[in-house]
Amino acid sequence: MHEMSIAAEILNIVERTVQENGADDVTDIFIEVGSLAGIMIPSLEFGLDIIKKNTSAREAAIHIEEIPGKGRCPNCELIFPMDFPIEPCPDCESSYLVMTSGDELRVREIEVERNI
Ligand SMILES: [Zn+2]
Repeated sequence: MHEMSIAAEILNIVERTVQENGADDVTDIFIEVGSLAGIMIPSLEFGLDIIKKNTSAREAAIHIEEIPGKGRCPNCELIFPMDFPIEPCPDCESSYLVMTSGDELRVREIEVERNI
């Protein structure tokens, strides 16, 4: 289950950001995951819930937004929703396609509480 190591990586980023900004407790973490990134969102949430207990994000609410996949066909320039990374162009059936979104994995925003 690679979601566990992804969860650890996300929380590393969160911890580093918290330290760099001299913040205290993290209240919210917003994460974007592409639907074609090969990540099971429930498994990722599960991993984050376990690992965050040992970090300054222990009380944080985790918000995961799924970004739908999109592809572009270089042959006919059609842009279309993509449900699988490998599928032919729905218009010209070319099988050489470019994924334009759907493989993202990023921490979009971290909200913290400052006790200064
Ligand atoms: Zn096409």
